[in-house]
Amino acid sequence: MIENLLSRLSKVKRSGNNQWMACCPAHQDKTPSLSITDKGDGRILINCYAGCGTEDVLDSIGMSFEDIMPPKLIDNRVAPIKQRVYASDALKVIQLESRIVLMAAYELKRNKPMTEDDLARLELAMERINIATEMANV
Ligand SMILES: [Zn+2]
Repeated sequence: MIENLLSRLSKVKRSGNNQWMACCPAHQDKTPSLSITDKGDGRILINCYAGCGTEDVLDSIGMSFEDIMPPKLIDNRVAPIKQRVYASDALKVIQLESRIVLMAAYELKRNKPMTEDDLARLELAMERINIATEMANV
């Protein structure tokens, strides 16, 4: 729940429709650099402009991905990759998703603001890389 999340952050300020800014709990943050977006379908997008991972942010406030994603969405995202067990497949996923992360990194470097869709895609890429990395490790 968004209220649950916001209550654990400091200097929370509404920045738009279903959007908030707050101090990032995962790094020393004096001015709010964490953006929170309530997608309205159970998903909450979290982005630290200093580059903290969503998982780190959630960890710092004692929450996990399950708290910001409905279980159904997590299943849907994980299932297609989970069925593949070969390391070469995992590598393909990492290769593809890394490109997305790299593109986002370049845009950040050029101070180009990312759209909500870009951020959502980036988050998906990060998670897919995590999953694929774990699988390739076997
Ligand atoms: Zn941060």
